[in-house]
Amino acid sequence: MLDKSVESIVDRAIEGESPCRDEMLMLMGIDVESAEAAYVRWGAEVLGRRASGGVGQIYAQIGLDATPCPENCAFCSLAARNNSSKGRAEVPDDEITHYAGVFDEAGVHLISLMATAAYNFEHFLRIVATVRGAIANDMPLMANIGDITFNQAQQLKAAGIQAIYHAHRLGEGTITGIAPERRLATIASAQKAGLALMTAVEPIYQGIPLEDIADRMLEVISQKPYCSGVGVLTAVPGTTMANETPYTRRQAAYFASIMRLAAGTSIPFGTGCGNVVWTDAGANPRGRDLSTDPDFLRRDVRRLRKELARDGWDVPARPLSAWFK
Ligand code: SF4
Repeated sequence: MLDKSVESIVDRAIEGESPCRDEMLMLMGIDVESAEAAYVRWGAEVLGRRASGGVGQIYAQIGLDATPCPENCAFCSLAARNNSSKGRAEVPDDEITHYAGVFDEAGVHLISLMATAAYNFEHFLRIVATVRGAIANDMPLMANIGDITFNQAQQLKAAGIQAIYHAHRLGEGTITGIAPERRLATIASAQKAGLALMTAVEPIYQGIPLEDIADRMLEVISQKPYCSGVGVLTAVPGTTMANETPYTRRQAAYFASIMRLAAGTSIPFGTGCGNVVWTDAGANPRGRDLSTDPDFLRRDVRRLRKELARDGWDVPARPLSAWFK
């Protein structure tokens, strides 16, 4: 027999009445292996399928550099304080364009260009222009870079960027070298310039008060992203946060389900329903070696397409430009 209060929260969310903060906190305290947690996950999937029209998405990320980053986020292997390598370490421009072309032909639904805050903005604009010229017009490009002004957001849009990934991280200003206000100002500038927002509640790990996680979920929902979720900490050896205990993927997915109940159908993609998967190439901040073999990248996209389809998602052959209008 399900706990009636949990059943009621989920049923009301499906009918359009989002749980309040106290109800979110109550759900967060439930054993992730319980029948109640399974009901929460089910409710999140119902809402996620409704929000996206049953569409699954494959996103590709290209890491542009592994330069020691002055923003010094404690969890990031590229932070200057964690990165033992010296000087700039940038993926050659022609390699970036090549990866983008491979992902475009393979039929992903968005390409993210990710760079550290040390990456020169003018160089980034040149990369965007080159990549934009090498891929189809319907392929959305997303910038995942350091903080920007409104003027820079406008320049990104003019160069061919449709979306931005930016997050006001949990512990911003404490575990990172960035004032929270700067992160929030970047998000506001990007949206004012007409860029779609992808963001997340990140990084979550054991030891962060559940109240902080719930508050950040509500903040993200209020920012009206087109895609979001919960990002669990990757405790990278050698970083300042290597000894923190991340939540399991299952626990993080459960938290994302609670966020989905709170978001309802306001966020089309991600957020506890499993309709977004990622592949990547180039540099990355989690210390993993990525394949540069184009055949591997194509196979990876095919694999992800099959996985989404197996889970009952409709996976379009090309991007849905309507999300970025
Ligand atoms: S997470 Fe981003 S901003 Fe922070 S140190 Fe790493 S590259 Fe720099």
